[in-house]
Amino acid sequence: MCSKVGCGRSAERTLSYDYADSLVAIGPLGLTPDPHSYDLCRAHADSLRIPRGWTLMRYREPEDRETDPTLGDLSHDQP
Ligand SMILES: [Zn+2]
Repeated sequence: MCSKVGCGRSAERTLSYDYADSLVAIGPLGLTPDPHSYDLCRAHADSLRIPRGWTLMRYREPEDRETDPTLGDLSHDQP
């Protein structure tokens, strides 16, 4: 189920926070077994607002995976 209070829709995305890198990642449901992850419905995942200064990273849909085989290796402004 979606983690948003008052939302009864089924979850379709998993949201995970990486506090060390100020990074918010949205991926397919259950992709990352992370203690800081939340499941969200599609609507809430798409309308998510992230804290200022954070980076939002969306994983590709599974059908796009052949163009990005290393899902855990998305680049994001690493120095
Ligand atoms: Zn929702």
